[in-house]
Amino acid sequence: MSIWRAIMKKPRTAVRSCHQKQASGHEGREKQVLSSSQVKPSTPDGTMPKFPEAPAGLARRQKEVVLRDPVSPYHLFRDTAEVTVFRENLLSWYDREKRDLPWRRRAEGEVDPDRRAYAVWVSEVMLQQTQVATVIDYYTRWMQKWPTLQDLASASLEEVNQLWAGLGYYSRGRRLQEGAQKVVEELGGHVPHTAETLQKLLPGVGRYTAGAIASIAFGQATGVVDGNVVRVLCRVRAIGADSGSTFVSQQLWSLAQQLVDPARPGDFNQAAMELGATVCTPQHPRCSQCPVQSMCRAHQRVEREQLVASQSLPGSPDVEECAPSTGQCQLCAPPTEPWDQTLGVANFPRKASRRPPREECSATCVLEQPRALGGARILLVQRPKSGLLAGLWEFPSVTAEPSGQCQREALLRELQSWAGPLPATHLQHLGQVAHTFSHIKLTYQVYGLALEGQIPVTITPPGARWLTREEFHTAAVSTAMKKVFRVYEGQRPGTCKGSKRSQVSAPSTQRKPSPGQQVLDSFFRPHHPTDVSSLNSMAQ
Ligand code: SF4
Ligand SMILES: [Zn+2]
Repeated sequence: MSIWRAIMKKPRTAVRSCHQKQASGHEGREKQVLSSSQVKPSTPDGTMPKFPEAPAGLARRQKEVVLRDPVSPYHLFRDTAEVTVFRENLLSWYDREKRDLPWRRRAEGEVDPDRRAYAVWVSEVMLQQTQVATVIDYYTRWMQKWPTLQDLASASLEEVNQLWAGLGYYSRGRRLQEGAQKVVEELGGHVPHTAETLQKLLPGVGRYTAGAIASIAFGQATGVVDGNVVRVLCRVRAIGADSGSTFVSQQLWSLAQQLVDPARPGDFNQAAMELGATVCTPQHPRCSQCPVQSMCRAHQRVEREQLVASQSLPGSPDVEECAPSTGQCQLCAPPTEPWDQTLGVANFPRKASRRPPREECSATCVLEQPRALGGARILLVQRPKSGLLAGLWEFPSVTAEPSGQCQREALLRELQSWAGPLPATHLQHLGQVAHTFSHIKLTYQVYGLALEGQIPVTITPPGARWLTREEFHTAAVSTAMKKVFRVYEGQRPGTCKGSKRSQVSAPSTQRKPSPGQQVLDSFFRPHHPTDVSSLNSMAQ
């Protein structure tokens, strides 16, 4: 019987006293987190260091932490041999199967370390929250336009937003450029070499990006954990507790640090991510083609469940397991979330259900001058320099009012503040589109107003532009605005396609604005910069 099982079979009184100790104060829990977050570097052979030189007081504290914060060996790699096999299997698979991606080619062929780091940095920032297939085109265009950090540092934010348009989470591009400026202006043109200094010195570079740049570009033996690695490690070590929790996250970083190959850290990290992206996928993992299947506890669990279900195995199979039903293990799923036979290995990882995005509404209008000099033009206004979609261009918008009439009036006032007096009767509701930012599901009520037969509007206040259609499609506008424009194009006022209008819901059916909507109102008034710091974390 393993030590862990022996612990789990302690008399109830012993278990209770352990709980009391754990719950005795917040400090105890903080210590657990601290002990986990101080990720111990693995020794080159992959085992965890034993700190033989630790002073007696420190040794006592570490022992205390271990007692309060037990992790079953079931969820760990316990010896050098197991770690070595994992590395070898994963790396030889990667050498055979890795995808040919432009950032890999560029980084592998680049001898200048700063240029190599830049190539990796751009790709890692673009790949956050975005699919590889989408990133390839953006990455290629970006590197053509700004092949070096110096080139990017001298670009304008407008140019950066323009190239980033459609990639989402726009603050990433801005931060990347700020980072390039910092390297050029304050660090002598040299990118920091370690994960610690990268994270400390560069804006927008978090723990993951820092580790990826340090390991891939500079060969630092530091592990990384992204969404793909979370999935692979949770499955390989059957970690069913909430993968978004601090405790599980720290355990995953610790595992990644233990596993990373000191001889090929960049390749190892990319291999782990590649495995998650191409084989150990969220919905339909291809376990039969997996290089680490023999070490995967999720796969073992599935096989055991199938054997039990088919009743071909009498009694409890002799397969190593944790203590899933006791609720004691902090890395197993809680007893309230039993194994789901239909999910198989996709029982891992588990994430506590996230709150759905808040629903908000906005009214927006495509104001067009079809007969402007030089061809039809549409009005775009610029958002504030900070906050949601900072600096991007959009159609004049207001937070939607509860009734259709109020909404129209508010929108008309907004339009007139940009373009002067307008014929109210020409303002037509055309439909609606929804766009989900990270925490907000925003429904745009789309209006159109075509200034047919009017005297051309010539005023263009600061922060506004009259663009041709071609200019609109290459401007720094968000995907949401492109969706809005498609509705306008399909149902342009005065065209015969307007019959589709009956399919859309009337503005008067909207619900009352919530307090959050009132906050959002400030977002959608680009010419009145407001304090948006409370929503800076959203949707960027
Ligand atoms: S065996 Fe299946 S579940 Fe396990 S790591 Fe491989 S693909 Fe993922
Ligand atoms: Zn467990």
